[in-house]
Amino acid sequence: MAQDDKLKKVIGHSKEYGFVFPSSEIYDGLSAAYDYGQLGVELKNNIKNYWWTAMVKMHENIVGLDASIFMHPTTWKASGHVDAFNDPLIDNKDSKKRYRADVLIEDYVAKIQAKIQKDVTKAKKRFGDAFNEEEFLSTNANCLRRSAEINSINERFKTAMNAEDLAGVKQLIEDLGIADPDTGSKNWTDVRQFNLMFKTELGAVSGDSGVIYLRPETAQGIFVNFLNVQKTGRMKIPFGIAQIGKAFRNEIIARQFIFRMREFEQMELQFFVKPGTQEKWYEYWKNARIQWHKALGLGEENYQFHDHVKMAHYADNAADIEFNFPMGFKELEGIHSRTDFDLRQHEEHSGKKLQYFDPEENKNYVPYVVETSIGLDRMFLAVLSASYNEEKLEGGNERTVLNIPPALAPVKAAILPLLKKDGLPEKAREILKELQFDFNCQYDEKDAIGRRYRRQDAIGTPYCITVDHQSLEDHTVTIRERDTMTQDRVAIADVHRIIGERVAFKNLFTQA
Ligand code: ATP
Repeated sequence: MAQDDKLKKVIGHSKEYGFVFPSSEIYDGLSAAYDYGQLGVELKNNIKNYWWTAMVKMHENIVGLDASIFMHPTTWKASGHVDAFNDPLIDNKDSKKRYRADVLIEDYVAKIQAKIQKDVTKAKKRFGDAFNEEEFLSTNANCLRRSAEINSINERFKTAMNAEDLAGVKQLIEDLGIADPDTGSKNWTDVRQFNLMFKTELGAVSGDSGVIYLRPETAQGIFVNFLNVQKTGRMKIPFGIAQIGKAFRNEIIARQFIFRMREFEQMELQFFVKPGTQEKWYEYWKNARIQWHKALGLGEENYQFHDHVKMAHYADNAADIEFNFPMGFKELEGIHSRTDFDLRQHEEHSGKKLQYFDPEENKNYVPYVVETSIGLDRMFLAVLSASYNEEKLEGGNERTVLNIPPALAPVKAAILPLLKKDGLPEKAREILKELQFDFNCQYDEKDAIGRRYRRQDAIGTPYCITVDHQSLEDHTVTIRERDTMTQDRVAIADVHRIIGERVAFKNLFTQA
């Protein structure tokens, strides 16, 4: 399936089956805002639960927090967001389209990278088992030339951005001959900075004194509560605070479905460490987070790390985990070594000490922080797009199936009486009652059984439990497995245990 096609299909499927709807659709929608439907909310909750289990439940030294979205406006002055949370934007004078200058340059670099990859794939085919990728990359003239070109572009971009030299960024775009991706026009405006925070006013006060922001990240709610949690929870460094919540950014261009929205949800961990140990913990969390992703079984080849060229104002080390979305490899999660920047800034702006007394060292210090930050909506899109499959079956039939990992599937089991009579519905409802307290289940008695299986495949239900006449005689049912479509006959008394074992989060953790 072509990648472009796939995104369209995933969007269509999401809407048709109640995963994601455009926001306020009866008014023709609102750009870059989406609503999660009856199945979407279940999948979203399961992803949250998988993250919370891995971060909070599985770590003795990590606790949760739910901070408010509105924060004292000085928070955002201290964090640097008022002055520096900008994206460089550029308009095309002919098409009147607006772009992020950094994204235009990154896309240009990605094209060169793709050419290198193409050469590698070709050489791999030619040399077979004898192929050594590292050696090829360090000796092949074409690859070396292209790598040098990438380095030089990245270096120029980084220097210009660090010096806030926006004319230099425009010059780079012109020197590279970058054109409007939609129209091919190279008639660009100057590059300008655009602050991404949403502003509003507090209560009845208007003017500057009442200005308040919708939080652009959940992290600051954790920093300002650092001592509250540390003291009341008697936490000892190293320890972490985890939070799931909404964040808001007035993105210049918000496209590609739920990948980039103006209102979205983040799952963030701030891990407080002793200064000097941040490198070790940064590596630890890079490794832990990639394991968390890979344990889902969506395909190891779908993940890659991308080290940042231009660091955010607060970081001394940063990498993204990129996922192979239908639009190509894009950022799914960021891992940042944030130093002591945030806590020190808050100390300075609030006049309050935000220090930890280390009993082992017998001294106070401001901890360093390693952050892991993942977009819940992007994770949702990753799961959905990797799970979406159209299959040709034996006998010429086709089915659309969502091979969602069972632990994340919105509906765990469907209970289906083979016929709508002879006491089968009653028996099926008995089983439903037994299961529904622990698992999200559906009961369906409409249409032929084959059509009901297809409906469940399309929403990713991993198990269909069918009640037939034999069930009434020997208290057994069949369990049909979504991916293999095989059916096993089992005792009704064992159904709860079997489903429980197969959909448990524990399975993911033992694989990791
Ligand atoms: P990008 O470069 O794509 O704008 P970012 O580097 O600004 O992302 P972070 O500030 O590191 O993103 O935010 C952490 C995570 O939050 C990202 O990895 C992403 O998954 C998610 N995220 C950020 N912006 C958005 C958005 N507009 N819509 C949905 N998710 C987002």
